[in-house]
Amino acid sequence: MKNKLTVISIFITLLIVISGSGVPQKKSSGKERPLNIILFIGDGMGPAQVSAAIAASSNPLIFESFPYSGFAKTSSSDNYITDSAAGGTAMACGVKTRNGMIGMGPDSSVVVSIMELAHKKGLSTGLVSTSAITHATPASFVAHNSGRGNYEDIALDFMKDNIDVFIGGGSDHFNKRKDSIDLTKKLTEQGYDVIYNIEALSKSKSKKIAGLLSGAHMGKPLEDRGGKLEKMTEKAIQTLSKNKNGFILMVEGSQIDFAGHANDLQWNLSEVIDLNNAIVKAIDFAQSSGNTLVVVTADHETGGLILPGGDLETRSVAGKFCSTDHTAVMVPIFSFGPASERFSGIHENTFFFHEFATLLNLK
Ligand code: MG
Ligand code: ZN
Repeated sequence: MKNKLTVISIFITLLIVISGSGVPQKKSSGKERPLNIILFIGDGMGPAQVSAAIAASSNPLIFESFPYSGFAKTSSSDNYITDSAAGGTAMACGVKTRNGMIGMGPDSSVVVSIMELAHKKGLSTGLVSTSAITHATPASFVAHNSGRGNYEDIALDFMKDNIDVFIGGGSDHFNKRKDSIDLTKKLTEQGYDVIYNIEALSKSKSKKIAGLLSGAHMGKPLEDRGGKLEKMTEKAIQTLSKNKNGFILMVEGSQIDFAGHANDLQWNLSEVIDLNNAIVKAIDFAQSSGNTLVVVTADHETGGLILPGGDLETRSVAGKFCSTDHTAVMVPIFSFGPASERFSGIHENTFFFHEFATLLNLK
């Protein structure tokens, strides 16, 4: 087992965009309801990942500025330790299911997602991810499949037109398929602007966007992905917010989890900071719109990260991973905007679906 102590003094602070990093500690009145909801999921982002990123960053991170925070319990229906499929399904559909299952209950019955409900009520819907868009977390919000690895089947569920904007990796599951069907042609016929790079994404004026920015998962922020998640998030918000009925958007920092599995502390924390920068964009929008709830949480912790040492003067953090898999520790919740007070305290991961459905009047 890899459990060596990694000490890093973070030059990844270079990644931080200094903008809007302070949210006023505005407490919600308790009676307000949001028009829009933006949910951030840091896949694998436990309390230690957030703590380490805060300690190592030379600029304040947005996490410290939220008016409300809490914890989510993450277990699945068949395991104390969830995977991202059951974790995603709990948040997206409000049902605890077995590990590996997407948008289905433990008995393999289809369960409706918050995105499907929102779409039916005339809200706009969006998914942004740094993994393949067909990967477990985003898939849980759009697809219904008993096997999280059935990526090409999961891609077919994106053809049901429930998601107005989806941006991530995974183009191979749409246009390099075993059945030779090019789903990107069908997406174009359905009115989507199908986009393959970040430059074209910024130029799109379409109300429906299928952004497939890499064949499989996107790269790392310290390599070729730096700054992209915040641009993807901004574009999704800009596009979805044209709908007067409101919107719901899920943005995933997918690779906090990958770095946790790899026990790579520098990658781990650079992903948390990358997600932080995307959250800053959402908070900027939420502050100017005044009617947007922003909730940040995780599906589970990955790597069993502990922080046995560090030095705040040099902003170095000593980290040690106890696992190469997921762990059961509760994950943080941060919330801002109308009804944000409802997300403080300790909640089950299924709570998000039910609360969002109530707040957006979707039930
Ligand atoms: Mg994920
Ligand atoms: Zn994982």
